[in-house]
Amino acid sequence: MRVINFNAGPAGLPLPALERAQKEMCDFEGTGMGILEHSHRGKAYEAVHDEAMSLLREMLSIPDSYEVLFLQGGASQQFAVVPMNLLPVGKSADYVITGGWSEKALEEAARLGTVRTAANTKADGVFRRVPTQAELDLDPNAAYVHVTSNNTLFGTQWAAFPDVTAPLVCDMSSDILGRRIDVSKFTLIYAGAQKNIGPSGVTIVIVKKDAVASARKDIPVVFRYETFAKAKSLYNTPPTFGIYLMRNVLAYWKEQGGIDAVQSRNEKKAKVLYDALDASSDYFSAPVEKGSRSAMNVVFRTPSEELDKQFVKTAASAGMVGLAGHRSTGGVRASLYNAVSVEDVERLVELMERFRKG
Ligand code: PMP
Repeated sequence: MRVINFNAGPAGLPLPALERAQKEMCDFEGTGMGILEHSHRGKAYEAVHDEAMSLLREMLSIPDSYEVLFLQGGASQQFAVVPMNLLPVGKSADYVITGGWSEKALEEAARLGTVRTAANTKADGVFRRVPTQAELDLDPNAAYVHVTSNNTLFGTQWAAFPDVTAPLVCDMSSDILGRRIDVSKFTLIYAGAQKNIGPSGVTIVIVKKDAVASARKDIPVVFRYETFAKAKSLYNTPPTFGIYLMRNVLAYWKEQGGIDAVQSRNEKKAKVLYDALDASSDYFSAPVEKGSRSAMNVVFRTPSEELDKQFVKTAASAGMVGLAGHRSTGGVRASLYNAVSVEDVERLVELMERFRKG
């Protein structure tokens, strides 16, 4: 029996996408072997690779002036690869610090070049909000401004992205494909696939073609965006199975109505859970400021750490897993990525109500 999976990533994937993989596991489209066994240079795999790319372009309405790259190394590797490519000597990059991942991105960039903190919303050791536009101390000459779209650990999310004049770079790991975005606002978007798009092992980069062309050339070939753009992300052996599964996931969401359908489902899910938290604020506390609440990761607490642990345990025995808060924050975290349904969230809310009443 499948459980309801509230894990923060890797996360649940739509069952039909997994079943499609199961069906094709040992014999992909009559080729007598599974996609895992196909050459990445062969026709069968190449068609899957191209389809995954065009589905992602279609789902996110990515303009032709952008490259879509399938890389490896996770978002963590991009913390370094972004400045390697986009931060030239003599320039500085601005970082907006809204959580643990943006802190890591800043630290990594600082190893490679000059960086500034454009804002930092940490208060009492935690992040409860993203900054307002007025709080941003931006360098108009910055090589780029780095933001984290959704802060997976603390459960904050930019409702609207800030207005900046320098190129905007965004770590979109934990909400890519969760809502409609205007790609043209960004010079570069990167994300690990393992929340909304597919399994871990695939890193997505969406980058303006002119930024690829003007990127630094004094870095190893394997870290240049240009290398992968020129080779259609087949410079070396890509994570073929991950890209195949991503194809299945994207095809499934397209069939379900595309990005607008996904977004409205996600808005509904978040509303169900936040409404329940607000209605029982005498028992459950939700620390994030309302304007910064994440639709993807909802963090909350019961009246005590002991009860938090008990709640997570009770939920697990009711078939709802992955609810423990991040090891650095504790508490409870329900990640409502795309594969979680409205009904799943309603089940969680029912459980919260039963637990509160004892
Ligand atoms: N950024 C964000 C916002 C994340 O949520 C994560 C992973 N949870 C990372 C970066 C790191 O990603 P990876 O493990 O793919 O390196």
